[in-house]
Amino acid sequence: MRITSVESFSVFSPGARPQFAWREGLPGGPDDGYASVLLIKTDEGVEGVAIAPRPGSGPVVSDLVERVLRDELVGADPLQREWLWHRMWELDRVYEFPINVLGLVDTALWDLAGRLYNAPTWEVLGGYRQEIEACASTSTFSTLEEYLDVATQCIELGYPAIKVHAWGDARKDAALCRALREHVGDEYPLMYDGSAGFDLVDAIYVGEALSEANYLWYEEPMREFNITAYKWLAQRVRVPLNVAETSDGVHMNTADFIQSGCATFVRTSTELRGGFTGAMRIAHLADAFRLRAEPHGNTIYARHLCMAIPNCTYYESLVTSNPAKREVGINAKGIVGAPRGPGVGLPPGLHYPPELESYVVDLAGSAVP
Ligand SMILES: [Mg+2]
Repeated sequence: MRITSVESFSVFSPGARPQFAWREGLPGGPDDGYASVLLIKTDEGVEGVAIAPRPGSGPVVSDLVERVLRDELVGADPLQREWLWHRMWELDRVYEFPINVLGLVDTALWDLAGRLYNAPTWEVLGGYRQEIEACASTSTFSTLEEYLDVATQCIELGYPAIKVHAWGDARKDAALCRALREHVGDEYPLMYDGSAGFDLVDAIYVGEALSEANYLWYEEPMREFNITAYKWLAQRVRVPLNVAETSDGVHMNTADFIQSGCATFVRTSTELRGGFTGAMRIAHLADAFRLRAEPHGNTIYARHLCMAIPNCTYYESLVTSNPAKREVGINAKGIVGAPRGPGVGLPPGLHYPPELESYVVDLAGSAVP
């Protein structure tokens, strides 16, 4: 089989209303913008699609397709995913792809493989499960009282765990995390995501509160460029760290986090970790050290990864509004079902051109009763 065409589409992606809020200092989002869809066609009629959903990726990917990727891919065998994955690394050395573009071709090729074998991509990757618990992952709310109210709503909606994104103020966030533990009781799983807002001093302060309040994990308290700072943090706090979400370098970078001793959980995703090939490398690397690899974000790709990765705990389901809403495809017990095939397809909600509409998936269709 040979690739015969590579097209990119800038697809209008309406921003969230209201916008998600992360910690103070970070822009909320997402804005209105143009996501990018890559469509790969072959001489045997099998096709693969992938989306870089971040608004603004549309023009970037179109440019790369025109200048670099089409010439590289046309004529190649789309089933040689490992070869093409390494080619993307080679090209990245020269062109410095944005981190969310490095895995886009690989993601489309895994979609293509699913269509070829008439199976969902998670099954082609190697199926492990057909349903998983979803944790409610909050955006940032205004007051401590509002968080407690939203937490109650999440529990009533069936979510079996909650991860909070908060203000990025060490004192306020630590107080919030303690209050939340008191509010939900000792047994309910809680996680905290610092969205890289702290230096080591504040990261230790928050980490001590999370340790006392028995949080399951402490995610990305600092930017992930200095592994030594993470090592020192892990030596000073008891709460398990969840690391390497946004750092460059895929499994090779994750390996150094693990080697430093700071990781109990690592992050993995198609979007930031080099497609399905990179995401699965990270999961297997973590597994070798008896660590967990937790899929990042509420994407259709994360749903597939959750079904293929043995050593993960939750699907991350964003709760961004008050009143809180349960995401489509999650049942009243907070369980998300395995996507149906073939391949992966494209998420609903964007303004696709007619030639892409047949790839859009129905997330409600994979819900478990
Ligand atoms: Mg995170």
